[in-house]
This record gives sequence, C-alpha cells and structure tokens, in this order.
Amino acid sequence: MQYDIVVIGAGIQGAGVAQAAAAAGYSVLVLEQSDIANGTSSKSSKLIHGGLRYLETGQLGLVRESLQERTILLRLAPNLVHLSPLHIPVYRDSARSPFTLAAGLSLYRLLAGMAKEARFSRVPRAEWGDLDGLKTDQLRQVFRYYEAQTDDAALTRAVMRSARALGAELALPARFLQGRIDAEGCDVAYTQGGREHQVRTRVLINAAGPWATELLKHIEPAPPMPAVELVQGAHLLLPPVLNHHYYLEAPADRRGVFALPWQNRLLLGTTETLYTGDPAKAHCLEDEQAYLLETLGHYFPGVNIDPGQMDSFAGLRVLPKGEGSASGRSREVIMAVDRPQQPRLLTLVGGKLTTYRATALQALARVAPSLPRRVPLADTADLPLE
Ligand SMILES: Cc1cc2nc3c(=O)[nH]c(=O)nc-3n(C[C@H](O)[C@H](O)[C@H](O)COP(=O)(O)OP(=O)(O)OC[C@H]3O[C@@H](n4cnc5c(N)ncnc54)[C@H](O)[C@@H]3O)c2cc1C
Repeated sequence: MQYDIVVIGAGIQGAGVAQAAAAAGYSVLVLEQSDIANGTSSKSSKLIHGGLRYLETGQLGLVRESLQERTILLRLAPNLVHLSPLHIPVYRDSARSPFTLAAGLSLYRLLAGMAKEARFSRVPRAEWGDLDGLKTDQLRQVFRYYEAQTDDAALTRAVMRSARALGAELALPARFLQGRIDAEGCDVAYTQGGREHQVRTRVLINAAGPWATELLKHIEPAPPMPAVELVQGAHLLLPPVLNHHYYLEAPADRRGVFALPWQNRLLLGTTETLYTGDPAKAHCLEDEQAYLLETLGHYFPGVNIDPGQMDSFAGLRVLPKGEGSASGRSREVIMAVDRPQQPRLLTLVGGKLTTYRATALQALARVAPSLPRRVPLADTADLPLE
C-alpha cells in the first residue's frame, strides 16, 4: 500500500496535519498507538488563547497567529470553543503594575486587529465583592479580558473526524515500529491487531508529541534530532468552588496560574517540572499539588478543598532545550526535516492546541515539494468541526 503521507500520532498536531493533507487531496494514513488525544492533547489547560503572557517574551508572531486562529475556531466550532471572561487581579506587590497590564492588553487587542473578542475592561471596585471571595487587601485593579475554552480531546476527535470525512485513514491502536528512508520516500512498519504491517509513503510526519524524539531512534538512516526537552505541566480538577475565571500570579515564583471553571469543575494549573521518564507515566507530583493549592488559597482564603474530591493530570510540553525557566522559552512549534529540499521525514513537536490548523498548513508547505500535484478538496478554514 502506498500513501502520500503517513502521520504518526493522533494528537491535535497529527489530526491537524491529516485534515489539512486530506483537504489538499493527498492520501493519508494516521497511526495512533493508543487512542485519539491520548497524549498531551487531552492534558492541556483547554484554552484556545492568544497567549497574553507570550507578549513579555516578545513572541508577537505567535500571539497574532493564535488570535487569528481563535477567531477562526470560534466560527468553525461554536459547540466546542466558547469565549469566557478571565479576571487578572493586580496587587501592590504583583510583578506587573496596572499600567503594564493595560499596555499588554492594549497590544493584545491591536494584534487581534481590534476584534471585539479581544476587548478588555477594568472591574469597578464596587463589583470586587462579586468575585468569589477574591482577596481585596492591597488589591489595586482587576482586569477583565476574554479567552476561549474548549474540550481539547473533543476538539482533537472533531478534527480527526473531519480528516476521515475527507478520506484520511486512521489505524488505531497501531504502533509505529520503524521507518527506512530511501531516495523516493519511506518504508514504514507498524503493528496492529498483533500483526506487523508494512506500508510505503512519500512523506512520513512524526507528530508523536513527547514520544517524538525517542521514535526517531527507529528511523534509518538516523535523522537529525531536534534539541528539545520535556517539561511537565500538572493540573488539578477541583469541585466548582469558583464561578469566575482567573489568571493568578503564583506567590511562590510569580508564574501565571489559571483557575478556570470547566465542565462543572475548577481546573487549576499549571506547573513547570523538568521530565525525563516515560511520557505515559507523567502524573501530578505532591509538590505540584501543594504549589497549585497554595496559589488558590492565597487569593481565595475562604475556599476549602476536600482532598477526596480532587483529581489531577499532567501533560508534557516539548520545548527547545535551554537555560532558565521553561516559561521564558519559545512556544513556537518546532519542525525538523531529514533534508532541506524534498524532505521525506518531518518531525513536528510542541506548538499550541490553538494554532494546530496554521501549524498543519506550515507542515504541508514544508513537505509539498516531495509530493505530486493533487486536486484540493476543501479549505480547512471553511470546514465546520462538530
Ligand atoms: C500542561 C500543558 C498545558 C497546555 N495548555 C494549552 C492551552 O491551554 N492551549 C493551547 O493552545 N495549548 C496548550 N498546550 C499545548 C498543547 O496541548 C500541545 O502543544 C499539543 O497538545 C501537542 O499535541 P501533539 O499532537 O503534538 O502531541 P500529543 O497530543 O502528545 O500526541 C502525540 C500522539 O502520538 C502517539 N504516539 C506516540 N508514539 C507513537 C507510536 N510509536 N505509534 C503510534 N502513535 C504514537 C501518542 O499516543 C499520542 O496520541 C499545553 C501543553 C501542556 C503540556
């Protein structure tokens, strides 16, 4: 069997590439070892967001692209992506002053082309008492702006459904075993239903998320390895103790922590812990739990959590290797090819759930020189997701 593109991984990036490739008329096979969105794509903060905090690290291109994609997803997936007002309280000892926040939110709005969903306001002091018992001692200002929430796994399944409706094939559970690259493409071996299968592809796309670099060891000749590391982000799922959404500054290290009502629970996250083990075994650690609960308790002293009613999960970011805190590092997607012209292998890791559609188009543009001309079937910017 011969395909134009074989994709490894049915997370959001693999599903996105499959959808874009099928829409462009290519024949596509997706291999997924477990289930759709089994990896990072079900363990995110579930935001379709512009990434306000990336303004501080100068990632303006990423913020602009994210805001554009958010607008598109609000249109394509109204049942899966909803706008929610987020509150940012600013205290006398906060790392950012009201002036800095207002400047950041204004730039955010500008990058969104002044779209109405990027508006922001200041919550009048008289309304602070309506904010779930938020600590008001030393409080200077509360900003309200908008981000969109989703169900990350449901969104990934919807993108994969769209890909399949356009003709993409999904083998599941099917585990990629090895690839052998030659002049014209790649021979791919995988297991499914206890049997080994062989297929031929013009291009192999490695979208295996936190498994991606380990997987490259099973490809010959040995492809270049992107210099990345895994950074764990844990979340707690708590009883619905808050009615509003907040973006808080963790007292321990001043990182941003989201407290978001989500599916009748409170989603609280996230952390940053270097991870070196088996990606399948990532889980919330005790000190991560303590860090998140301390942040919540600091701002909402009246909130009491029964430990018996608490769930947790942890996802792994694939970030460029680097010095210093993970939050300062680029969140742009990382793409690596086996050769610059006519690549036969593209590894695609990191990036955002929010920008999966734009990322998929960039990935296709990278591998298009290795593929024959096909008649496009659709534009992913017009395909509803449900
Ligand atoms: C804590 C955290 C919070 C985040 N929050 C947000 C957010 O709020 N908004 C946002 O936009 N982005 C967010 N992100 C980023 C976003 O979640 C990720 O960029 C995205 O989910 C990565 O998707 P992926 O498809 O690359 O990887 P994954 O979802 O991990 O998918 C990889 C898939 O490959 C499969 N696979 C692996 N090996 C094999 C093999 N040998 N054979 C077959 N299949 C294989 C796995 O089973 C898995 O399903 C967050 C990330 C983290 C870690």
